[in-house]
Amino acid sequence: YQAKEGGGSVAAYESSRDAASTDQLALLAELREALDADDQLVLALQPAVDLTTGAPTGVEALIRWRHPRRGWLGPADFIRPVENSEQLGAFTRYVLDKALAVAADWARQGLDVPISVNLSARSLLDPRLPAEIAEALRRHQVPPRRLVLEITETVVMSELEIIDEVLATLRSMGVRLSVDDFGTGFSSLTFLTRIAVDELKVDRSFVIRMVDSPEAAAIVRTTVGLAHELGLRVVAEGVETAEQRSALAELGCTAAQGYHFFKPMPADKIGAVLGSLLDSAQGNVFPLRADG
Ligand code: C2E
Ligand code: MG
Ligand code: MG
Ligand code: MG
Repeated sequence: YQAKEGGGSVAAYESSRDAASTDQLALLAELREALDADDQLVLALQPAVDLTTGAPTGVEALIRWRHPRRGWLGPADFIRPVENSEQLGAFTRYVLDKALAVAADWARQGLDVPISVNLSARSLLDPRLPAEIAEALRRHQVPPRRLVLEITETVVMSELEIIDEVLATLRSMGVRLSVDDFGTGFSSLTFLTRIAVDELKVDRSFVIRMVDSPEAAAIVRTTVGLAHELGLRVVAEGVETAEQRSALAELGCTAAQGYHFFKPMPADKIGAVLGSLLDSAQGNVFPLRADG
C-alpha cells in the first residue's frame, strides 16, 4: 500500500543512515585524538554587553574544532554525536578546563568578567560533575561566581531528579546558572519553578523577529518582565541590528550579545576588547557602536 518508490527511498534512507553512523564513528575516534592533541578544539569567545553602560556583562565560550582534515567545524557538526557518546564527560571537562584557563588569565590582567560555558543537558546526568567543576575552579583559582553554566531544558522527565540535584549542588557552590535559548523548550516555565537560576537568555529566534512580529516582541517583553520579577539577569542573544538593539533597550532588556556588537573571537583578541569596553564604560556616556 505504500507507493513503490517509497520502498526505494526507505532503502536509500537506510543506507545513508549507515553511512552517516560510520561517519559519526570516525568523527568520535577523531575527537578522542583531538582531546589529546590539545590544539584542535578551541574556544571562540563572544562578549555580552550592558545596553546602557556598554560594559561587558560576560563572555560566552563557543567550541570550534580545527580538524586536521575536515577544516573548521562548528558545534552543529559534532555536538550531537558527542552528546550521545561515551566521550561527553571528557569533552565537557575539556571545555570547562579551557574556559577556566581563560578566566584565570583575565583575572591576572585585572579583568573581572564572568565566563559562560554551554553544558549539554546529558552531562548533568553525571553526579560527579559538581566535584569535577569544584576541582577545576580550585586548580585555576577562579572564584565560582566567575563561572556561568548555560543550560537548555531538553531533558526527559525521568531524568529530572538527577539533574535538579546536580544543578542545585552547583548553585550552592556559588556557580551561576543560565537558561539558554529561553522560550524554545516546551517546559521553560516549569523549569524555573524547579531550579533556582541566575539568568535567562532570550532565544535568537525571538530577537530576529521582534521588530516585525508583535508576537515575538510580546515574548521578549514578557521574558524580560519575568526575569526582572524573579530577580534574574536577562541577556538577548543573536542581536544583529541597531534596530533590534534599540527595541530591546525599549523593552527594558539590560544586556545583549550578537554580531551587532561582536562576533565570536579568538582567545588572543578578547583581552584587549574587554579592556577597552571596561575603560569606555567608566565614562558611561557614549552610546555603543557596532563593532564591524
Ligand atoms: P548557543 O549557546 O545559543 O550559542 C549562540 C550561537 O549563536 C553560537 O553559535 C554563536 O556563534 C551564534 N551567534 C552569536 N551571535 C549571533 C548573531 O548575531 N547572529 C547569528 N546568526 N548567530 C549568532 P555556535 O557557536 O555555532 O553554537 C551553536 C550552539 O552549540 C550553541 O548555541 C550551544 O548550544 C552549542 N555549543 C557551543 N559551544 C558548546 C560547548 O562548548 N559545549 C556544548 N555542549 N555545546 C556548545
Ligand atoms: Mg549558549
Ligand atoms: Mg543561546
Ligand atoms: Mg541558541
